[in-house]
Amino acid sequence: MMAEIQHPLPNASWETRGYWEGAGRGEIVLQRCRSCGTVQHKPRGVCATCLSGDIEHFVASGRGTVYTFTVTNQNMAKGFAEACPYVMAYVTLEEGPRVLTNIVGCDPDTVIIGMKVTADFATQERDDGEAFAVPRFTPV
Ligand SMILES: [Zn+2]
Repeated sequence: MMAEIQHPLPNASWETRGYWEGAGRGEIVLQRCRSCGTVQHKPRGVCATCLSGDIEHFVASGRGTVYTFTVTNQNMAKGFAEACPYVMAYVTLEEGPRVLTNIVGCDPDTVIIGMKVTADFATQERDDGEAFAVPRFTPV
């Protein structure tokens, strides 16, 4: 069993706090524009389509499909070196947005484009009272 990636601890801005807090609860939280219906990620203060500031957050399904991926076999950065080989992927969420993430819980050689995946969350100790997590995905 390979080591898990030790991600840098997320910091929340006013735009991203809803996303990180949702991840801390084990939820993928996305934004929807109340004016035009666009679902967007990354979190922003305005709609990327129509520039409306009338944005709501909602809990997404956590389900998606591998759009593309690469297997990282060498990374000297602390927290990542121990986890090689690991899978970096773009996952297209059921709600539309595409997220850069990791695929975990399987042999990297078994990951394929089009694979159905579901969200999973990596939590780490932190000393500032925040309860954030880093979303990643596992095969269904
Ligand atoms: Zn909009």
